[in-house]
Amino acid sequence: MSTSLDLIRASERIVVAGHLRADGDSLGAAIVLARGLRAMGKQVELILPDPPDSRYSFLERRTPWSIYSGKGSLPDHDLVIVCDCSQLDRLGAMGTEIEILGSKRLVVDHHPFDRAVHRWDAEYHDVTAAATGLLAVDLLRELGEEPDKIALEAAFVALMTDTGWLKYSNADARAFAAAADLVGRGVDPDSVYRDIYQQTSAGTPRGIGAALASTEYLADGKAVLGWIDGATLRTAQGELVDTDEILDILRAVQSVEVVAFLSERGGRVKVSFRSKTWLDVNQGARQIGGGGHARAAGATFPEGVSIVDAREQLSELLEAAVSAGPPAA
Ligand code: 5GP
Ligand code: MN
Repeated sequence: MSTSLDLIRASERIVVAGHLRADGDSLGAAIVLARGLRAMGKQVELILPDPPDSRYSFLERRTPWSIYSGKGSLPDHDLVIVCDCSQLDRLGAMGTEIEILGSKRLVVDHHPFDRAVHRWDAEYHDVTAAATGLLAVDLLRELGEEPDKIALEAAFVALMTDTGWLKYSNADARAFAAAADLVGRGVDPDSVYRDIYQQTSAGTPRGIGAALASTEYLADGKAVLGWIDGATLRTAQGELVDTDEILDILRAVQSVEVVAFLSERGGRVKVSFRSKTWLDVNQGARQIGGGGHARAAGATFPEGVSIVDAREQLSELLEAAVSAGPPAA
């Protein structure tokens, strides 16, 4: 396997990609690399498999991206860089095209993955990094390129969204130091916070309220399951673009170790998992075809699985996972 640095140096036309429904980390990392590689004289296209949440439109105004427009639409390239996921199938149809073209591919990521299943020409990979955006900055600096102001802000977005503004268990000393360094270099944290978190619709609190009404506790309160279907959300005149707040509220309950929240996305049921101190939710997410980290993971059920079916399946999975308690130290 060549090194990430060799592969980038040898490439002139590069596609930088995020994953489906790209989050702040995937977008932030992709922006850092796209801007930095362009500054090095590379021809770079920043392409996402589908449109991200509108809360990130402030990033797009500074660094425009395009959305994959179907088979045959990828520009000629000699390298694809995938940010914040190590599985091409998380790029949907865009991943399939990359697979079929046999493109050279580099992954920049912090998720654990199975190397026997997912193959890359080079990996810039560190599961201990709080955010992929920080790895993107490291990679650029190893190439001898310093990120510009806009890239530094994108790296800050990546770090702060993936750590829940430095409050999740992945917020380690390196994450705090990186945040301080980025602010020291001119990033305005208050303005970034407002851009990401304080532009919601009036329907959002209604959506959160309706979703919290469904809460069901399992295994003596060690697990909690919440859900909302599209019809209930519409009746409540609610909106739910992001389930992070709901997951945080449920995880905050003292007895709770694990939260699962179900919602409908494009006709399919999506589940998000969060755990507090010991349960590896990545394992549970993998059982239903998803993945993620030990304390935050997710999956999308196959088409045709209803919220009721998913709830039943998850009740069993959660009961079994937490009943035994944490493994002995
Ligand atoms: P969220 O629940 O906020 O969508 O995602 C939490 C974590 O799980 C993130 O690290 C995300 O990348 C991962 N994740 C969410 N959905 C999926 C999925 O369908 N497949 C995989 N492999 N990971 C997912
Ligand atoms: Mn991430």
